Amino acid sequence: MSKDQQKVDVLIVGQGLAGSALALQLIYRSKKVMVIDQPANNRSSRVAAGLFNPVTGMGIVKTWMEEPIFSYLHEFYAEAEKFFNEKFFFPQLLYRPFGTIEEQNSWMGKSADPTVNNLMADVFTTSHFGNQVHDRFGGLLIKNAGYIDSPAFLKAVQSYLIANQSYWESHFNSDDLVLNNERISYQNIVADYIVMCTGINSLVPFFDWLPIRSLKGETLTISMKQSPEMLLNKGVYVVPTDQPNLYKAGATYSLKELSPATTIEGENEIKEKLGALLKIPFEIVGQDWGIRPTTVDRKPILGSHPVHPKLVIFNGLGTKGVSLAPYFSNQLANWLLEKGEIIKEVNINRFKPLYSKS
Ligand SMILES: Cc1cc2nc3c(=O)[nH]c(=O)nc-3n(C[C@H](O)[C@H](O)[C@H](O)COP(=O)(O)OP(=O)(O)OC[C@H]3O[C@@H](n4cnc5c(N)ncnc54)[C@H](O)[C@@H]3O)c2cc1C
Repeated sequence: MSKDQQKVDVLIVGQGLAGSALALQLIYRSKKVMVIDQPANNRSSRVAAGLFNPVTGMGIVKTWMEEPIFSYLHEFYAEAEKFFNEKFFFPQLLYRPFGTIEEQNSWMGKSADPTVNNLMADVFTTSHFGNQVHDRFGGLLIKNAGYIDSPAFLKAVQSYLIANQSYWESHFNSDDLVLNNERISYQNIVADYIVMCTGINSLVPFFDWLPIRSLKGETLTISMKQSPEMLLNKGVYVVPTDQPNLYKAGATYSLKELSPATTIEGENEIKEKLGALLKIPFEIVGQDWGIRPTTVDRKPILGSHPVHPKLVIFNGLGTKGVSLAPYFSNQLANWLLEKGEIIKEVNINRFKPLYSKS
């Protein structure tokens, strides 16, 4: 190693939710990291409304691995707030009105199931928050939900990295990466591992065989004179921002329309859904877009390249980066330090047959 080379334990590329959570996990374990990022390109983690909700979908079901993932996320963000002495984690009840009497009945059928029932703070069969939302069939008041101020979390991680000479604002160019079985080097950096946390970007040439699909999302920023008493979600979510009276509402989901811009169709879709949810008058004051990295089986992808053991990926956080990043960055950090396994559901090994065919 020449004298102007810098040795770190792990080089991380990308400082969205994935790269930020992983960097933090390694810092907690006293590892030296370097994070390369191009923040101007960060459109997914920065525009995210930051919502986490243990009960999702039309059928009102618990999300995948709800118990370990949601209990860990509370621990992770609360600890990160203490570590940075910043506020960005807001656990809060979430109200989900029933859309129809059938939905209410279907829920009542499920309510005997203690694993779902214990996520409910309350269940209403008639309107309960009728001054704020359309809820004539009642609704569910869900525990264990909340939101993070995603830009504030990313900023806190970035400021810490900068203060510790561990941040490099630059475009990562894979032509400059040298890989061997013991370590990697990139320009003047030498590391035991490189972890690609680049979302939908720059998977070429090493990981472009993985089935990571772009899913565009748009959000609206709305202003309301009256604050809802809790987070709201029915077809569309309404989540506070760091500005009083301003809320994020969204999102849309498009696999086809992937233009790098907001659209009038996106605005109309969210506006219509907001009209069906809110009784509080709202005004649209902004619109944003981003592209989520999703996978065919809706699970993250963790692990090393089939041929290059020191080249690792942490990706595929899809629509749930806020809840998945903490738990799986913990798993990945333990695996990198040879202190744990990557579970098969998220392990890159499940896609290895695609590599041999490519
Ligand atoms: C509109 C919208 C709303 C959303 N709302 C929520 C929500 O409420 N709750 C939730 O849980 N999830 C939400 N999500 C999903 C969530 O944002 C994603 O799961 C998450 O952002 C993915 O994080 P990531 O770190 O994998 O990718 P990204 O956020 O895309 O980060 C990748 C980083 O890598 C950098 N990078 C890429 N290539 C290079 C290169 N060559 N050199 C240097 N840097 C590079 C990029 O600049 C970027 O900073 C939302 C997404 C969208 C689009």
